[in-house]
Amino acid sequence: MTSPKSPIGGHVPVAGGLATGGLKYAAEIGAETIQVFVSNPRGWALPEGKPAEDAKLRASDVPVYIHTPYLVNFGSPSAETLEKSLATVRHSLQRGHAIGARGVVVHTGSAVTQSYDDAMAQVGEHVLPLLEEIPDDGPDLLLEPMAGQNNMLCAKVQQLGPFFERLEHHPKLGVCFDTCHAFAAGHDLSSPAGVAETIDALVETVGPGRLKLVHANDSKDICGSAKDRHENIGAGHIGEKAFAELFAHPEVAGVPFIIETPGRSATPHGNDIKTLKRLRDT
Ligand SMILES: [Zn+2]
Repeated sequence: MTSPKSPIGGHVPVAGGLATGGLKYAAEIGAETIQVFVSNPRGWALPEGKPAEDAKLRASDVPVYIHTPYLVNFGSPSAETLEKSLATVRHSLQRGHAIGARGVVVHTGSAVTQSYDDAMAQVGEHVLPLLEEIPDDGPDLLLEPMAGQNNMLCAKVQQLGPFFERLEHHPKLGVCFDTCHAFAAGHDLSSPAGVAETIDALVETVGPGRLKLVHANDSKDICGSAKDRHENIGAGHIGEKAFAELFAHPEVAGVPFIIETPGRSATPHGNDIKTLKRLRDT
């Protein structure tokens, strides 16, 4: 049996419209899958979609993912931040349903000044109802572990365990694995057995079939740095070999890869996608 191929794509700018702008950029960089923002990533505004653009994206055969804004934090001690976080993720899930997105990515967040236990209790109390609201044909909610700085609730893949317990292993719950974050958190993906050990640990923690998306980013910093600075594929401390190993891991086969690498033009992004396709296909 040959394993399914992972589609490879990138986070795309959506100036000009989700479908018009996003799919145009996707074509320029050779993306087979895309990730978009459906609201300002550094704000709380919750814009409505444009029905024609939504329909166009839904009709495309490109797998689409939504990244929620950076301000979202389910572990925040601020009632106001928590409330806005919930409203924002609900908005992304509803927009995701409208555009036919497969997943909505949310950062696992930080306890900031409260205790880990209090923050995790908050996650269970408020995020489980959000999962319950997702219709059967709606997107999955994908938890993305972080690089490990500032009282983060989850950086190592093993720390996904308490999230899955609090969220009762809900069928709409999944994982977005960011290579740069994992490397920064201390998973040495550049070591000979690093990729296999990390993905095996992830599967052991959350069970098979929960890994739904890979954020494929190299790292400007060394393993365990706790720094979240993405680098172009092969140009950082993770290196090309780790990405080739990821494609070959049975749990990762078929899971889409999205780059979030540096560069403000199609050239560096197109090159990263070309590199990943070579590593996938050889
Ligand atoms: Zn990411």
